[in-house]
Amino acid sequence: MFVDRANIYVKAGNGGNGCDSFYFKRGMRFKRRNGGDGGRGGDIIIRTDDNVATLLDFRYRQHYKAGAGKHGSSNFKKGKDALPAVILVPPGTIVREINSGCLIRDLNKSGEQVIVAKGGFGGKGNQSGKPATPGGIGQEYHLSLELKLIADIGLIGYPNAGKSSLLNIISGANSKVGHFPFTTLSPILGVIKSSLPDKRVVVADIPGIIKDAHKGKGLGIEFLKHIERTKVLLFVIDIAGVDGRDPSEDYYSLIEELRSYDAQIIKRPLLIAVNKTDMPQAADNLKNFKQSVKKKIYPISCKEKSGIDVLVSALRKKLETGK
Ligand code: GDP
Ligand code: MG
Repeated sequence: MFVDRANIYVKAGNGGNGCDSFYFKRGMRFKRRNGGDGGRGGDIIIRTDDNVATLLDFRYRQHYKAGAGKHGSSNFKKGKDALPAVILVPPGTIVREINSGCLIRDLNKSGEQVIVAKGGFGGKGNQSGKPATPGGIGQEYHLSLELKLIADIGLIGYPNAGKSSLLNIISGANSKVGHFPFTTLSPILGVIKSSLPDKRVVVADIPGIIKDAHKGKGLGIEFLKHIERTKVLLFVIDIAGVDGRDPSEDYYSLIEELRSYDAQIIKRPLLIAVNKTDMPQAADNLKNFKQSVKKKIYPISCKEKSGIDVLVSALRKKLETGK
C-alpha cells in the first residue's frame, strides 16, 4: 500500500459588495434607494473522479482559489454569483484540515464531493432601506490530502536501469529521470491508462535497490517494504551494463536481495524487461543473459520507445491471469 500525500491551500471567493445607489428625478420628492445586492463568492469543492489516479498533480499546484462574487449595482441589479472551483481527486482520498487535524471527509465513491471552503455571502444593497453592506470573506484553509493506493506493479532494478524512464513512457507521469543513483527518493506512482476505469494499472517506481538492501543499507528496507504489497514485480535490467556490472549478475543479485528480505516475495508473478537494447553492446549481452536466465524476457529500449507495447500487454495479462 502506498500513501500518496499532498498539502494544498484553498481560498473560497469573497462575496460581492452591496451597492449604495439612489435614483432621483426632477419632480420626485425623495431619492429612491436602488442599490442591488452583491453576488456570492465561489465555493471550493473537492470531488472524486475516476480519471484521476494519484495525487501527483498536487506537487505542481498547491493553491486553489474560487472567484469573487460581482458587486451589486444601481437599478436593483444583483451582482453575479461566482462559480465554485472544483478540485478533482482520486476516489479513496481522505481530506483533512491541517491546523486542527480535523477529518473533513473520507471520499470513497466516484463522484462524491464535499464543500471544503464556503464562498462569502453577497453584501446587501441599500434597496433594503439600510446602507449597503460589504460582501463576506471567503473561507480559507490549508488541507492535507491522503490517498492509500495498492500498486499493481512494482518496478525492481538497480539505479540507472531505466525504471523512471519506463514509468514515464507507460504512464506519462513526470517521474524524474537522472544520471544519479537514488534519484527517485520515494515511490512515484504512475498509471497505465485505459478507457475502462477498472482496467487502470498502477505502477510504482521505487528507489533503486542496492546490494545488501535487506540489511538496511541505503534506502534498502524502506524500499523493500514498498514492494510487499504489489501484485506483480517487473524487473528492469540494464542489458547494456552501462555501470560496468554484468546484467545476469544483476538479475541474480536482485532475486537474492528480495529472497533474503522475504522468501515469499519472489513467488509472486514477475516479468523481466531488459532495457537499453539500443546500445551496441546490448546484443551480445542479451544472448548471454538468455542463456543464463532461462525465462521469458521482454527486450525494450526506453530511448527508442521500442518493445513497450508488448511489455504493457504482457503486464496486463499477468495481472489478470497471473500467467
Ligand atoms: P532509474 O534509476 O532506474 O530510474 O533510471 P533512469 O530512468 O533515471 O535512467 C538512467 C539513465 O539511463 C538515464 O540517463 C536515461 O537517459 C538512461 N536510459 C534509460 N533508458 C535507456 C535506454 O533505453 N537506452 C539508453 N541508451 N539509455 C537509457
Ligand atoms: Mg529513477
